[in-house]
Amino acid sequence: MVSYKELGLVNTREMFAKAINGGYAIPAFNFNNMEQLQAIIKASAETKSPVILQVSKGARNYANQTLLRYMAQGAVEYAKELGWEHPQICLHLDHGDTFEVCKSCVDFGFSSVMIDGSSLPYEENIALTKKVVEYAHQYDVTVEAELGVLAGVEDDVQAEESHYTKPEEVIDFATRTGCDSLAISIGTSHGAYKFKPEQCTRDPQTGKLVPPPLAFDVLDAIMEKLPGFPIVLHGSSSVPQEYVDIINTHGGKMPDAVGIPEEQLRKAAKSAVCKINIDSDSRLAFTAAVRKVFVEKPGEFDPRKYCGPARDEMTKLYKHKIIEVLGSDGKAE
Ligand SMILES: [Zn+2]
Repeated sequence: MVSYKELGLVNTREMFAKAINGGYAIPAFNFNNMEQLQAIIKASAETKSPVILQVSKGARNYANQTLLRYMAQGAVEYAKELGWEHPQICLHLDHGDTFEVCKSCVDFGFSSVMIDGSSLPYEENIALTKKVVEYAHQYDVTVEAELGVLAGVEDDVQAEESHYTKPEEVIDFATRTGCDSLAISIGTSHGAYKFKPEQCTRDPQTGKLVPPPLAFDVLDAIMEKLPGFPIVLHGSSSVPQEYVDIINTHGGKMPDAVGIPEEQLRKAAKSAVCKINIDSDSRLAFTAAVRKVFVEKPGEFDPRKYCGPARDEMTKLYKHKIIEVLGSDGKAE
């Protein structure tokens, strides 16, 4: 048993309370490798933004859970080295699907876990979430739960169709499970292809897809039922078209990749939405930067010469999200 407190990590309770009162949201960035983690920590340290490091099932399979946990521990020390005196870093399990995987993360030094029972029947979701909450709370680890189904593909999480969260269920669910935050479905979606062309209109000038707006009426109804309760948005990459264009002009092929417009996320961040998950955007930044080096310098074979620029591009992206979209800069001095 390792307590996250010994590792210098924090849970989400205080972060979320401050974010709701302050009208901003905490960034939740996924990480799978060293360059991505360095970029997240550098961007957070330079902007003094609290941050949630997310580990998905895919990340655990790719990079090994033990290694990722030690990397997060190293990240706390790296943040201090960068001059961030009191780093507020949370290590969070993204989309835990069983009690056992959540327990193993709690026992292993994670400060927050998500139990995603959203694909289960309602009562089974409640029972599973409650079991995780009862275990995690013994160690002061916070728990995110999910109601409603997001469309899209993220690692092993896949759904054809989305179902908006039903506002009439949220009080019962939050009360009976005791969860600390709730991921809801209001039209965000996993992956870099969030919407099918038939769900969108097309900008006549650029030919780019214009996605449908998020269901803010559903969010408002949920906030009315659960005033001041921390809400989470998954699948909130904006899929920056400048990266898609670089990828497509440097040997890639990502037609009609489209995300959630940043002005909608900005609006959400000001509400009870206090955690916004962003993963695909950093994948796009990484890939665009690497493709550019490969095309412009075909003789380059030192991974540092293409992973370095990729890291710089991700740092730029994370800082942009923190300052321009979420408004979490300066909130963890
Ligand atoms: Zn997700």
